Amino acid sequence: MANDNYQSWGRTIKCNRAATEWQADALADAQGSLLPFGNGKSYGDSCHNDAGTLLDNRNHKDVLEFNPETGVLRAQTGILLCDILEHILPHGWFLPVTPGTQFVTLGGAIANDVHGKNHHRAGTFGRHVNCFEIARSDFGTQICSPDRHSELFDATIGGLGLTGNITWAELRLMKVASADIDQQIIRFSNLENYFALAGEADRNNEYSVAWIDSHATGRGFGRGLLLNGNHADNGNLTYQVSKPRISVPFTPPFSLINGLALRAFNQLYYHKQRKVESNDRVACSSYFYPLDGIGNWNRLYGPKGLYQHQCALPVENAETVVADLLKACQKAGQGSFLTVLKRFGNVPSPGLLSFPREGFTLTLDFPNSGARTLALMHQLDQITVQAGGAVNPYKDARMSAVTYQASFPRWQELERLRDPVLMSDFWRRVTLKS
Ligand SMILES: Cc1cc2nc3c(=O)[nH]c(=O)nc-3n(C[C@H](O)[C@H](O)[C@H](O)COP(=O)(O)OP(=O)(O)OC[C@H]3O[C@@H](n4cnc5c(N)ncnc54)[C@H](O)[C@@H]3O)c2cc1C
Repeated sequence: MANDNYQSWGRTIKCNRAATEWQADALADAQGSLLPFGNGKSYGDSCHNDAGTLLDNRNHKDVLEFNPETGVLRAQTGILLCDILEHILPHGWFLPVTPGTQFVTLGGAIANDVHGKNHHRAGTFGRHVNCFEIARSDFGTQICSPDRHSELFDATIGGLGLTGNITWAELRLMKVASADIDQQIIRFSNLENYFALAGEADRNNEYSVAWIDSHATGRGFGRGLLLNGNHADNGNLTYQVSKPRISVPFTPPFSLINGLALRAFNQLYYHKQRKVESNDRVACSSYFYPLDGIGNWNRLYGPKGLYQHQCALPVENAETVVADLLKACQKAGQGSFLTVLKRFGNVPSPGLLSFPREGFTLTLDFPNSGARTLALMHQLDQITVQAGGAVNPYKDARMSAVTYQASFPRWQELERLRDPVLMSDFWRRVTLKS
């Protein structure tokens, strides 16, 4: 099977991919290199293996066990997070951590050790995994947990799919009284104000994240909206997988996200919030997954796609460095479309190479304008690394080996535990070529 269903979200890398459905003997019988594939919601090449074959897990999506008393769920790893939510919410349980899209598989969430708007309280996804079964080419199938094959357990959480194919996983869920979210939006007028608000917002709320108008200059530099949230107590426990309200039916011949549209959108979004503070009750899909409301929104970036740059920065210098990163974008005349700033808490992840670390994380999205975008991204990498930070591998499609290795100095430990038949384009790029 070779087709374009295996594109990643950024759509910057084009080619046909060979793929086969995951089967128990796939690794033992491997001809050439393989890589587990979830649902392609990573932005770049960490879910690609163009010299080999992808192992598609999406048909393996059953809930194997669920205890509504204890909130422990065991499922095959091809299941999407939205399907887990549909199964568990009527019983008063929620995902302990969810990323910004519900269309991610359980396997992908573990392999990237994803984070959500509650990182300051819950840490990463991997922290809530009791155990999983993993299949390897060299020593077959094993069950791993913090007490059993713990080295492989830790390396697999955030292990970018390189340590084996996870076939099922067991997760501890979070008890909630409602699917609805009591949302508080606070408008802040510059970056300094955000940093003054962030700590208290985290102390008082289960969820907190900020959107930044990356185009604003002068006194409004770094202005934005802080979106805090807590589960309501109204007992509404229904969840329907939110079908996109509208969908982008085809890829336009050029990016619709251009300089003018970027500036206008950012201004409008900021001014949409008229009061300094507002409080509403909203459906959880609108709080957690606003972008899922527009099907295939990545097509708006045209045939060249988009790059995302996400960095994690130490607490000590985060305010200065976030300002430096935003200024670099403005100076390059390439403001980001969607800019998100969030504090990462100090809850440790079991993952050997998990991306989140205590401090702040800034996420920037850019239409791919070729060499000038790549030059800007490289500059953002340098600012990040010099500040002692890290660049996120599963949002990346182009970082250098030097940037990756500075971001994840323990990468050789993962290489030692890598299944010898598993390989990704990303891993080839950042570890095998220097
Ligand atoms: C709109 C949007 C918002 C997002 N928001 C966030 C966010 O808030 N926080 C965040 O952390 N991420 C976020 N992401 C990124 C996304 O959550 C991650 O990239 C996620 O891991 C993708 O999962 P996937 O199922 O699509 O897997 P893929 O992208 O297909 O694969 C991801 C990795 O998992 C491996 N893998 C997949 N299945 C298995 C398996 N069964 N066994 C072993 N390895 C496996 C693959 O080899 C690959 O390395 C967002 C992405 C989008 C598009």
